[in-house]
Amino acid sequence: MKKLVLVLCFLPLLTLAQSKRKQRLAAEKADATLLANLQKHVQYLADDQLEGRRTGTRGETMAMEYLVQYYQQLGIPAAGSNGYVQPFEINEGKKIDATTTWWVRDRELMVMKEYFPLAYSAQGSLASKPAMVLSEKGQPWFLDLKEILEENRNNPHFDVDEVIRKQAESVRTKGATALLVYNSTSITDNVQFNKNDKTTPSAIPVLYITAEGFRNHFSDPSASLPMELKVSISEKTRQAHNVVAFINNNAPHTVILGAHYDHLGYGEDKNALDTAHAIHNGADDNASGTAALMELAAMLKTKAPAGNNYLIIHFSGEELGLFGSKYWLEHPTVKISPNYMINMDMVGRYDTTHKLTVGGYGTSPVWGELWKTLPTTLRTHFDSTGSGPSDHASFYRANIPVQFFFTGSHADYHKASDDWDKINYAGQREVVKLVYNLIGAADTKGKLSFAKTAEPQVGRATFTVSLGIMPDYGYSGTGVRVDGVVPGKLAEKTGLQAGDILLQLGEFKFVDVMSYMQSLKKFNKGDKTQLRIRRGSEEKTFEITF
Ligand SMILES: [Zn+2]
Repeated sequence: MKKLVLVLCFLPLLTLAQSKRKQRLAAEKADATLLANLQKHVQYLADDQLEGRRTGTRGETMAMEYLVQYYQQLGIPAAGSNGYVQPFEINEGKKIDATTTWWVRDRELMVMKEYFPLAYSAQGSLASKPAMVLSEKGQPWFLDLKEILEENRNNPHFDVDEVIRKQAESVRTKGATALLVYNSTSITDNVQFNKNDKTTPSAIPVLYITAEGFRNHFSDPSASLPMELKVSISEKTRQAHNVVAFINNNAPHTVILGAHYDHLGYGEDKNALDTAHAIHNGADDNASGTAALMELAAMLKTKAPAGNNYLIIHFSGEELGLFGSKYWLEHPTVKISPNYMINMDMVGRYDTTHKLTVGGYGTSPVWGELWKTLPTTLRTHFDSTGSGPSDHASFYRANIPVQFFFTGSHADYHKASDDWDKINYAGQREVVKLVYNLIGAADTKGKLSFAKTAEPQVGRATFTVSLGIMPDYGYSGTGVRVDGVVPGKLAEKTGLQAGDILLQLGEFKFVDVMSYMQSLKKFNKGDKTQLRIRRGSEEKTFEITF
């Protein structure tokens, strides 16, 4: 009997040990599967046949199809506007085509450097033999802005574009075949190629000759100038695609889980950091985050904390300026009450020198509480700000708490060498598990409260002054649309608001973000100047001191 009792006593202990062993084996197996899946996704997405997944290309479509098929197989319902897909257009504005050429006396002028057609210029070709001092029927005419600029030095309503347009129309009626504009003074004229121009094209080509072009090719006013000219301008829009799936628990609030899947293609959009015309596979940026999101979705499909719904969005157009996330926010495909947003962008390079950065820590007081309770073997670094150069910033702007997962920049960032074999898949797997655990920890907290955070300093290295605005890179009108103002900085103190369109700083007018940046470079700390903006239908001018 005694013996029997003893055996009976040990039995539960044995089964406990056995079940622990079973659990451990199951966990190891799940880990191995997760790692293999992550690697499989990254290898496919970062394969040369996808040619760098550039927005609007076949490679982007292939990645989109891979995602759609995956969610179909997984059985997570579609939540795009067309099945899983939310197509959207990116308007890139006008471009001077490569076929635009100008030969003067057997020398070709360099477009943009020595001249450019105005955005509203007529297109087509002409061959001619004008002289600068002559204005003859059937020939191009020249226009020096000298007099106009000197007369209007103190005229606040002076608009050089309007003057040139009127002049083009007037010389055309007198028989000119083109208008060639230059400025022989050192007065700033603000003539620019406005890619956002939407006016009707002029009837004749209108070209602007830069100071450099003027020096190099037009120094002799009476010389006869045999020339051949061809102007071609096109307007480009690109079709992009977000991929959206939805785990609906019929909970009151929805967690948004996002990662962008587009990348740089061959670097055609000039956003690469190397000059090679080579496929930029973007294994870390952001096949890694895409794969992580796919596997996170699979884990949530198996076992999702029931306190929230889960909206999974794979964004496109991120590398061109967060277009996919902005578009979704402006055109939501499902009616939800957002709780918080998690973004994963570049989560594949965790190693001894790269910690896991968790951004958006300050966007809700609840994050701090939650992180205290989360065990992880990963070395983490917390960053308070909700802004940043990835899609979570769009959600933060919409007053939604965010968490941004990122394993840091590296030497292959935005280069053709960002390949799948450099990814640390074990590290990536731990990130996925950590995000899953965070979602679990947040489950009982209800709707997280939102907090604004300090903004990071952008472009500090290249600019000595700044206004402290977040420009809307997706704005397709003339000027710079303010997406948000940085608390405590000049723009906020001046009273600028989201939605304002900035038009002019001092004597410098700008047509887009690029020319805005150029005008900022002309100022130093302490400089006083005027800022002209449009708010609604009203124009306003502010006195500012940098
Ligand atoms: Zn990225």
